[in-house]
Amino acid sequence: MNAARVCVLALVAACANPRIVMPASRGAKIGTIELGWSNVHVVYGERPLVVDSGVRGDLREIADKLGDLGVALRDVRCAVITHGHADHAGTARAMQALGIKIIMGAGDLARTQRGEHGAHHATSVFAWLLHFLLPEHYTPFTADVLVTDRYDLAPCGIAGEVISTPGHTAGSVVVIVGGGKIAIVGDLIRGGRLGGFVDKTQPRVHFYQDDKAAAHAEIRKLLARGVEWFVLGHGGPSTRAEVADEFGR
Ligand SMILES: [Zn+2]
Repeated sequence: MNAARVCVLALVAACANPRIVMPASRGAKIGTIELGWSNVHVVYGERPLVVDSGVRGDLREIADKLGDLGVALRDVRCAVITHGHADHAGTARAMQALGIKIIMGAGDLARTQRGEHGAHHATSVFAWLLHFLLPEHYTPFTADVLVTDRYDLAPCGIAGEVISTPGHTAGSVVVIVGGGKIAIVGDLIRGGRLGGFVDKTQPRVHFYQDDKAAAHAEIRKLLARGVEWFVLGHGGPSTRAEVADEFGR
């Protein structure tokens, strides 16, 4: 096989959707589904764990693409919703109705019970303009587990934990797997340049942060605890070195 063909195949693999973004050799196997507005991830374990849930109406696409990744939605015991924004919590109630246990941060309880995205605190002019296009509402729900500090995922069939990381929203959480080396961070960081359309693994300041200083302090805490890979809610994944270059050590 010539070099050009290898290059094209590598490009196709990088753009494939859904795709495996973390091989098991890194400590945890993770698949990512790129939906219209955000990513949904699946962590493979004794039982598959879903992280985030797209916007309202995305459940069919999530189920289909989980199937492409070899995962049946009926086998999922738990889903972690990284925060209560409409592009991450959109199908949480629909998953809950299927018997999936919903885990999220206690700080976002009020907004999920209203089913409202809430205020946008834009970090750039582009982000401020973009917010007029964003989904605002989703089916309200009350999570089965409300995390205030940390939650061990063993009952979900996963070796890992959920930790509270307030900043993007008050109730934002991060999933830690792979023996502490992999963090699934929701919107703590976004990936990509030029509005996220190119160079999708490049970590950048997220478009919206309720408390930007707090969010960036949480990123540095993840670096300090030894996280090597950052799996993002939009774009990604990013390496430790890329994140440290963008946000400091
Ligand atoms: Zn968000």
